[in-house]
Amino acid sequence: MGEFELIERFFRRPAAGGFVALGIGDDCALLAPEPGHRLAVSSDMLVEGRHFLPTVDPQALGHKALAVNLSDLAACAARPRAFTLALSLPRADEHWVGAFADGLFALADAHGCVLAGGDTTQGPLNICITVIGDVPAQGALLRSAAKASEDIYVSGTPGRARAALEVFRGKLDLPAPLFALARQHMERPQPRVALGLALRGLASSAIDVSDGLLGDLGHVMRASALAAQIDATAVEEAVVRNDPVLADLPRALALQFVLAGGDDYELAFTAAVGHRQAIQEVARQCGVSVTRIGQTVDGSGVRVVDAAGRQLDQVFDSFDHFA
Ligand code: ADP
Ligand code: MG
Repeated sequence: MGEFELIERFFRRPAAGGFVALGIGDDCALLAPEPGHRLAVSSDMLVEGRHFLPTVDPQALGHKALAVNLSDLAACAARPRAFTLALSLPRADEHWVGAFADGLFALADAHGCVLAGGDTTQGPLNICITVIGDVPAQGALLRSAAKASEDIYVSGTPGRARAALEVFRGKLDLPAPLFALARQHMERPQPRVALGLALRGLASSAIDVSDGLLGDLGHVMRASALAAQIDATAVEEAVVRNDPVLADLPRALALQFVLAGGDDYELAFTAAVGHRQAIQEVARQCGVSVTRIGQTVDGSGVRVVDAAGRQLDQVFDSFDHFA
């Protein structure tokens, strides 16, 4: 199967119209943004051995490659519209590409996000997706707009993906059903698109958690020239204790996974104290739990404190590809 046959068979679909005025087949795609909107664009690359194991199920990989990109749109409160796919494949394995495309399109269709173009080449397995979303001109959530004395929240259950990774690495044992649950988070993260959209006008800033909660919050605090105070007790009571995967782990390890595990694709965001009720309400409507884990304060950095406000001794390191 050649390059063009592969694109025809697996990636080209009937033209949809709307935002993607011209899709796959010409030298460029043509997009038709709505007046008064900004386009939100983000790329994420997945490299075999670095971001996924060679044994990964191709359908799960198709899902995850798009999910991590949609998560970036969610963090900006942008609505997914289109994406491009640059694919480097060692060989044109029909079974593999078919399963990859199934996982990819299932998630794309669920979010109304249309594949508008891409590139296909032979080489080591490497997947680069660029997503394009739109957001009203003033509606985007930015890292730089948090204010002092606001609440800090995180969605869902960060930490599960890291627990699964440690099982794969042979460093952690989990009972089979819990491992299945954790693995689901690692391989098929659910981007919080609906929550991101619902947080327009409520959150002051947001980021998606890919490298680890504290490290990613650190980016927000730097951009907003603020400090974060994270309440370890709140994290333990609201996140760890209620989660079957995390609840039975040693306390320090569970906290490490939640605060610095990475690969979570949850949203961390800040909001004025007056929005507490509204935030819980929109989270409920989106079917996602949202936990208040701390406060922004004047200063710089991210501190983790106990119930009495004392800083924890434990060191939490987020992921850095070049560290
Ligand atoms: P060019 O040679 O001009 O770069 P290509 O031959 O690479 O064009 O691609 C032909 C068409 O197929 C283009 O519209 C391109 O966007 C699309 N395309 C190529 N690879 C992919 C892919 N992996 N997914 C989606 N569209 C693709
Ligand atoms: Mg090309």
